[in-house]
Amino acid sequence: MKNRRENFLISGIVLIISGAIFTLAVNIVMGAIAGLSGILCFLIGMSTPTDMRMSPEAVAAWQPSMERLPDAGRFMYRVDVTLDEPKRSTILCGPCGNLETVDGPKPEEYTCPECNRLLWSNEEE
Ligand SMILES: [Zn+2]
Repeated sequence: MKNRRENFLISGIVLIISGAIFTLAVNIVMGAIAGLSGILCFLIGMSTPTDMRMSPEAVAAWQPSMERLPDAGRFMYRVDVTLDEPKRSTILCGPCGNLETVDGPKPEEYTCPECNRLLWSNEEE
């Protein structure tokens, strides 16, 4: 579906540009036909709904590429620690997107319970 939409958009743009060139170089009738077809294609492309959600297959396909990052052995993560007592740390796992809240400040090391990846360990530093 996505490719179909993009094809319409690309055809639309190409035809609009061709229309402009035809108008100048050949004649206004040719230009008008190409231009109108282009606008029509563009409108069809724009009105075709796109599914922005990632399918489970797409997510599964995306994860291995994260592991192949040159910075091997380290995963992206985000830790937010509350300023007020009692302290709580919110950990967002980059590879799987799991959000976990733990009591206390940032732990010494952390393994994501969802994907079992070691996100960080202070012993390494
Ligand atoms: Zn994870």
